[in-house]
Amino acid sequence: MTQANDNFLKLQRNYLFRDIADKVKAFQTSHPEAHIISLGIGDVTQPLAPAVIQAMHKAVEEMGHEETFRGYGPEQGYEFLRQAIVDGDFRPRGIEMDIDEVFVSDGAKSDTGNIGDILSSDSTVGVTDPIYPVYIDSNVMSGRAGALTPQGLWNRITYMPCTAANDFTPEIPDHKVDIIYLCYPNNPTGTVISRQQLQQWVDYARRWGSLIMYDAAYEAYIQDPEIPHSIYEIEGAKECAIEFHSYSKTAGFTGTRCGYTIVPKALKAYSDGQPVSLNQLWTRRQSTKYNGTSYITQRGAAATYTPEGRAQIQETIQYYMTNARLMLQTLAKAGFTTYGGHDAPYIWLKTPDGVGSWQFFETLLHQAHLVSTPGVGFGPSGEGYIRLTAFGKRQDCEEAMKRIIRL
Ligand SMILES: *Cc1c(COP(=O)(O)O)cnc(C)c1O
Repeated sequence: MTQANDNFLKLQRNYLFRDIADKVKAFQTSHPEAHIISLGIGDVTQPLAPAVIQAMHKAVEEMGHEETFRGYGPEQGYEFLRQAIVDGDFRPRGIEMDIDEVFVSDGAKSDTGNIGDILSSDSTVGVTDPIYPVYIDSNVMSGRAGALTPQGLWNRITYMPCTAANDFTPEIPDHKVDIIYLCYPNNPTGTVISRQQLQQWVDYARRWGSLIMYDAAYEAYIQDPEIPHSIYEIEGAKECAIEFHSYSKTAGFTGTRCGYTIVPKALKAYSDGQPVSLNQLWTRRQSTKYNGTSYITQRGAAATYTPEGRAQIQETIQYYMTNARLMLQTLAKAGFTTYGGHDAPYIWLKTPDGVGSWQFFETLLHQAHLVSTPGVGFGPSGEGYIRLTAFGKRQDCEEAMKRIIRL
């Protein structure tokens, strides 16, 4: 009999979005006249930029002619895109990067989920709480998480609570954790990390020989010029961090699929006390298990670095951030305490009078016909909060805010 990977059986079913959908459906059935608006969606709503569409059309045309047809591309991505990334995302911030340190992918979910392949399954893991579930679940699958405690936490994972009490700044562990996941601007809390705080993490990682997995999926939403966009803006980060980027939220590629990961050549892990290049291991991993992002998609991604492309994706980002501002203003006027929403498309709202996340979710659904995401669904420290997203259409956002005021 073939044995299954038992680690998969340890996974908790992720009921969050199904439970939300069930509750919304039940409410709609009993209140067919209600116009329900979702502020819970984690997907973008605005179409791809014209410059991206144009580049993809051109690439499609090339694929239809023998002289310009492309078959398998380089697993690591085409040079035109890797060069555009180095020149567009790093050099302007004073970061030198070799194109061989850039790995184009089909998005940050795959890479944050797969990166553990190149690290020992004995490594210990640290995560912020609340958290994007991929970081934990992928480590459960590889056996790094250990066993589930009665409190619903994994016994080999170090949880770093992020709440209003610590200003959403995770406390740096006082012991060695091999792999630390950080996501800034943060999903779900919408909060950011300062240069000084990020420096402390880099110092910690270098002191203990830890590896930081830095998820920068929302860096394009940063408005405050003091906030770092990349961990490599920090001295010493190339020796201790892998960074994940995505065109999903930056340029509306959630359905088109493209991202990239930086694995610096200076980054080392150890085997029998000998240093091993993680860049080489990731190259080997990708060339074995990945055959490259489609040419058409990579042309689309490269178009986001042209002057027109840049201006167009900025316009869309500003559209979402205008939604966020509108929401923050209304919520403040209505007396709610909120966090995030200034440098990220997420608002983390403290439930009034300390009611539970799910209870406040129900209140919003029943009394204002609004859908939110209960914070506790992202981890125990999310209890007492709900997440609202700014990815909606303006009209819906405005209507939703009128209802909040009436509430
Ligand atoms: C949306 C999101 C991503 C991007 O995922 P893709 O696979 O690139 O679409 C990565 N990290 C976080 C925290 C996200 O919310």
